[in-house]
Amino acid sequence: MFNDQRSKRVIFLAHCLLNQNAISDGTADYPAAHREVVRTLLDAQVSIAQMPCPELCCLGLDRGDPLGAQRPVVVENTRIRRAMGQPETAAKMETLVQQVVNQIREYHRNGFTVLGIVGMDRSPCCGVNTTSDEDRELEGQGVFMAAVLSALEEAGLRVPVVGVKAANALERIQMLLGAEDAAPAQADVP
Ligand code: SF4
Repeated sequence: MFNDQRSKRVIFLAHCLLNQNAISDGTADYPAAHREVVRTLLDAQVSIAQMPCPELCCLGLDRGDPLGAQRPVVVENTRIRRAMGQPETAAKMETLVQQVVNQIREYHRNGFTVLGIVGMDRSPCCGVNTTSDEDRELEGQGVFMAAVLSALEEAGLRVPVVGVKAANALERIQMLLGAEDAAPAQADVP
């Protein structure tokens, strides 16, 4: 099965690496997508699964406050983090978490390689190494990423995870590709 032209290699990217029009007001770093990341992955025959943007899906494009961009980013991010924790919003986010986990489960079950999950550092939702809370950037995970990683662990699915910012995204994703080349069977065994 699946003995066609596909590479069977997939990476899961934070939504905004491919769609800057989804990001919160005032924080876009480029007009559309991270061109170098996309080109590098396609050149490596890795297909790109775009995770949902939890903030867009749960709070809307303006994150529930059209004046949000007037605050310092980490202050606005802290407000967004609180908004994501409201019960109704958290329930919506959980459905998004399960969508990601179900897709990864399917790839694993069918013998595909999931090279990794790429989150966005400083984000109150998608941060891996750092997030935003208490009106500052601090170590820790965003609420969406924490929920995805917890659900993956619960499901017994192991996937490498990296956090990036626009400036280091290419370098960190290249490292992920390099790690796969060095140990192709190790990085993705549940
Ligand atoms: S970091 Fe996550 S929540 Fe923020 S814009 Fe990107 S995908 Fe959406």
